Amino acid sequence: MSCFYRALLGLLLVVVVSCGPAAPDPLEAIPDPKTLDESYVSDPDRVLRPATVQLLNSQLRALDQSGRAHIDVVVTRSIGEAVPKTTATALFNRWKIGDAEKDNGLLLLLVLDQRRVEFETGYGLEADLPDIICFRIQQQIMLPLLRDKRYDEALTQGVQALMVHLAASAAVPDSSRVATSSPAPESRAVAPDGATLTPHDRWVGLGTFCALGSFFLCMLAIGLSPNDHRSFTFLWLGLVPVGLVGLLNLLHPTIDDNASLYAIIALSYLLPCGYLHWTVLQLNRRYAAQPAALSRRERYTYLERQHSSVQTFFRVLFFPVGMLVYWLWHWRRMHQLRAAPYACSNCSGGTMHRLSEKQDDALLKPGQAAEEKTRSIDYDVFQCTQCHQTLVIDYKNLGTTVKPCPQCQYLTLEAQEPTVELAATTSATGWGWKQSRCAHCQHQTKKVRYTIARKSSSSSSSGSSSSSGGSSSSSSGGSSGGGGSGSSW
Ligand SMILES: [Zn+2]
Ligand SMILES: [Zn+2]
Repeated sequence: MSCFYRALLGLLLVVVVSCGPAAPDPLEAIPDPKTLDESYVSDPDRVLRPATVQLLNSQLRALDQSGRAHIDVVVTRSIGEAVPKTTATALFNRWKIGDAEKDNGLLLLLVLDQRRVEFETGYGLEADLPDIICFRIQQQIMLPLLRDKRYDEALTQGVQALMVHLAASAAVPDSSRVATSSPAPESRAVAPDGATLTPHDRWVGLGTFCALGSFFLCMLAIGLSPNDHRSFTFLWLGLVPVGLVGLLNLLHPTIDDNASLYAIIALSYLLPCGYLHWTVLQLNRRYAAQPAALSRRERYTYLERQHSSVQTFFRVLFFPVGMLVYWLWHWRRMHQLRAAPYACSNCSGGTMHRLSEKQDDALLKPGQAAEEKTRSIDYDVFQCTQCHQTLVIDYKNLGTTVKPCPQCQYLTLEAQEPTVELAATTSATGWGWKQSRCAHCQHQTKKVRYTIARKSSSSSSSGSSSSSGGSSSSSSGGSSGGGGSGSSW
């Protein structure tokens, strides 16, 4: 074809397009789904796949027949210069969507060239689908898909979210539900907002729950790990479940799967739990690698330092399954380290057995007995059954506040109850004396003056405010109250 003909053809095309019949009213170009063989989807430009239209029709028919709501879906490539919101209201009112009495209609309009989605709700649905919920469904579920031009998924998932909401709010025992079924919808009250949760809300909630829970449990597990094997760099473990929540939600915005939900919650617990068990394993590996020359007392003290009773208590409380078994085994090991008989160093073949606490008092020096009394040192006394040679082993109480006495050198200097010379008031500090006394030689330290902090003036005021939101609306049979929401993508 020559250049000339091509130019002529182009010119002809321009003429035909510009002189063609004037564009019809965009509203006229959109057929009412009701006129399309009992359909709920109006897709004059055939944007959607036939399977999608079929799926939406069957879902929306079931919803309509249940009497809960009547949702019409409209997809159009263009409505010219018309405003989508105005168009949605106009179509809603022209088609009279929904039951005349319940006014439970909803129009979902998609305008592709203006990249706009509109929900237009009837008065009867505004309580169950407040604008904020409509907006959230659009923003969180539909828009990401619409931006990818995945119109079929955007609509099926959007409609799915709407149906989940409607089902959830129907399950809420609410006086408004009575009004719905009665022929007098005028008395309808607005349902409390937040009564329903989208899958997205659930995942946001789960994310927050996991973030707080796993961070707390990680802090706890690290705090409970043996002193020599503690590392706060492992706090990142607490972020793993949160990351998983975010990732899953990103990949499947509408996921509503309890199994993965519970798996993530379990992981929030199992990761810190695993960390703690791992550090305990590390400790026992290091303990096994200790030089063989180490005395039983040294081994005992080493282990005791890594297993304070407070730590052990909380280990068993929060991570009971493994830690209880470990604790029982550890307790037996500690008992053997302390109480197992020694071979006598004085005679050959003699065995030294541990005496009872009562028996050993007679063999301890008065200072040692005072130390036992103040619980600063616990003495184990072993005696040979043959030659009666004794062996005294001291076990210092790692948590003691008793100090060494400057006079007799025993660990028997105890702080006395401080005296109050001037009591503190809310406006002024007070003062008193502090003093320590030796439980063995009765030596007393010099009095030390101390300050008593001012009493805090507790002036708390409590106020309660309650707000109740509610409004009633009358319906005029399938007309839109201007409710709904719109979003651009
Ligand atoms: Zn002996
Ligand atoms: Zn003393």
